[in-house]
Amino acid sequence: MDFNDLWLSKESMDAINKHGFSKPTEVQEKVLPVSLSGRDVMVQSKTGSGKTLVFLLTIFEQYLKNRDSKALIVAPTRELAVQIEEDAKSFSEFIEGYRIGCFYGGVGYSRQLEEVEEGINLAVGTPGRLIDFLKSGKINFKDFSIVVLDEADRMFDMGFYPDIERMFRSMRPSQERQTMLFSATLSVKVRNLAWAFMNDPAEVEVRPEEVTVKEITQELFHVTSSEKFSLLLSLLKKIGPESAIIFTNTKDAAVEVASRLKINGYKAAFLMGDMAQSRRLETLERFKAGKLTILVATDVAARGLQIDDLELVVNYDIPEDYENYVHRIGRTARAGKSGKAVTLADEEYIYGLEPIEEYIHMKIPVLWPDECGLEEVEDKSKGLKIRKDGRRPSDTRKNKVERKKTEKKPNRKQKPQIQKKKNVPLKKEASMEDILKKEIEGKNVRKVSLSDVKAEEKKGLFSFFKRLFAK
Ligand code: ADP
Ligand code: MG
Repeated sequence: MDFNDLWLSKESMDAINKHGFSKPTEVQEKVLPVSLSGRDVMVQSKTGSGKTLVFLLTIFEQYLKNRDSKALIVAPTRELAVQIEEDAKSFSEFIEGYRIGCFYGGVGYSRQLEEVEEGINLAVGTPGRLIDFLKSGKINFKDFSIVVLDEADRMFDMGFYPDIERMFRSMRPSQERQTMLFSATLSVKVRNLAWAFMNDPAEVEVRPEEVTVKEITQELFHVTSSEKFSLLLSLLKKIGPESAIIFTNTKDAAVEVASRLKINGYKAAFLMGDMAQSRRLETLERFKAGKLTILVATDVAARGLQIDDLELVVNYDIPEDYENYVHRIGRTARAGKSGKAVTLADEEYIYGLEPIEEYIHMKIPVLWPDECGLEEVEDKSKGLKIRKDGRRPSDTRKNKVERKKTEKKPNRKQKPQIQKKKNVPLKKEASMEDILKKEIEGKNVRKVSLSDVKAEEKKGLFSFFKRLFAK
């Protein structure tokens, strides 16, 4: 099927061509013929399958037939709303005078209010802020002749069910509007909502596409978890990617890896699901603009975001859910380009490997660091303790002033955001043995209590005493 077969307007076709999309994706091919006819649809399809264009084209085509028609798109998070708004702007580029407003929380009302008052053809927003506008009467929900719920399951996960219900109750009857619902899963809750507020929707399910990972160069390294980070440094040095995403299984690991990469001079940042919206958005924008080279993220944080077209994907941890392996590495090698995906298999997550290989019907080729010319790279973050939020400890004004006094020429950009472990009286250069020797020799360096000493240091301590008394 071709986009031409859908009899779209010249405005839409021009935009599609400008984006270089040659063929509709599967979900577009299946849903657009139904949605363009005006019928309600309920669509189950995975992230990255091209759903946005389905509802945007449906909305634009309706508008071009009836310039009074107004559309509403509800999305679960601010950054998704912003992403949809961006797509809507770029795909409506050739529609003259088309106005889009975006409504989300965390920012002031005034600019959004101005948008409403100037009049809009399409409102994109998150439930909370939309409800605010509904309550204040600034947006009349009866105006919308086409309504889209994007990522419905996620909205319910986030507790927006009552808000969604309330919005629907304020709309015109379902027979007098077109309603489209998109979701990764069609759970009971999603179906209930569809039953209550939609008009005999056509149900379209797009099966997860055949796993195609053939275009991607996959590599796997076996490594102990304690050596993983230095292997990562070697890999990054050799590959030197312009853009990469590194996946970890936990938030803590994401923060740690990102912080250590920064200390080692990489333009890296972490992305987490529960980060403040504004910070996530800012991080994402910096990455898209090329100001960041590396994003370190969990699967949850990366879900639903358009971070693709990457040169390199690293599975720092093997995903525990085998489908995520394909989602992760699928972010490289889009649109026929070649990409690379490197997986680090350590003792903690190795059990996830077999299900992945079964799922993708292939063994991931195993490489050995010394055989593929990987050099060892000095890890500048070695031995440094990273705080859970990736920041320095209690960065109070007093501390900053203190630091200024002690630090020579602080270089802001390279200033590592680390915390040296509290109460550890050891400097990197001075080993436990040195200190004890000095203590014993009477050159009292500092009092050391056993509780200050890490397990491996304790071991060293005992062997030191053993040797001492053996003498
Ligand atoms: P979903 O909402 O299903 O997760 P999106 O609509 O965000 O997916 O689309 C995922 C990516 O695919 C986007 O980068 C989008 O620009 C791209 N895309 C959408 N439709 C096409 C197409 N027909 N051809 C090529 N790329 C497309
Ligand atoms: Mg989407």
